Amino acid sequence: ESFSEVGLHPDLLKAVMASGYTKPTPIQEQAMPLIMDGRDIMGAAQTGTGKTAAFTLPLLHRLMPMANSSMSPARHPVRALILAPTRELADQVADSVKRYSHSSPLRVAVVFGGVDMNAQRDQLRKGCELLIATPGRLLDHIEQKNVSLSQVSVLVLDEADRMLDMGFLPDLERIVRLLPKPRQSLLFSATFSNDIRKLARSFLNNPVEINV
Ligand code: AMP
Repeated sequence: ESFSEVGLHPDLLKAVMASGYTKPTPIQEQAMPLIMDGRDIMGAAQTGTGKTAAFTLPLLHRLMPMANSSMSPARHPVRALILAPTRELADQVADSVKRYSHSSPLRVAVVFGGVDMNAQRDQLRKGCELLIATPGRLLDHIEQKNVSLSQVSVLVLDEADRMLDMGFLPDLERIVRLLPKPRQSLLFSATFSNDIRKLARSFLNNPVEINV
């Protein structure tokens, strides 16, 4: 299968080609059509398998029709939320997203702990369709009313096993309670432990399991 058969937006296909990808990796081949169909998935995939593009490309495909060039923050509610365990991973996901979406007016924000909140607050208050965040810092911004999750239609948990190892479960539960239902939820994890399966049962809706 090729990237064009997946039915991605032409601008995304161009970005894929510009990145030098000639064919989808196994996780991309399996996950992209399901995500485009709106299914929930739980994917077992290590870093290096191409998992970031596997979820960011379909996500961007779904968000692109919602992008507009309005200056009004109210016109840019958060539609997709990607949660990551660390600043490094959040940055890495943000880099991919920005590379694939540079020609679109979609607004992307990334927030993580360990740095001053003010610049992040200003960015959030301008509005963003796609938000990439570490859980604790996101909750800080929610408490300060810098961002609302009431319009989120897709949730991604990246490296869910590491988020549990780092003790983020209570934060994840608080965040997920603020999200609308129905929504699409995608969970990626290096392994499927019992704790991950329990998390998937409470956050995901009839997920398709993918192992690569
Ligand atoms: P990830 O597993 O998401 O961290 O991706 C690992 C690396 O693979 C990144 O440098 C990507 O740019 C690259 N990559 C992702 N998809 C493809 C593909 N279909 N063909 C070649 N390289 C890819």
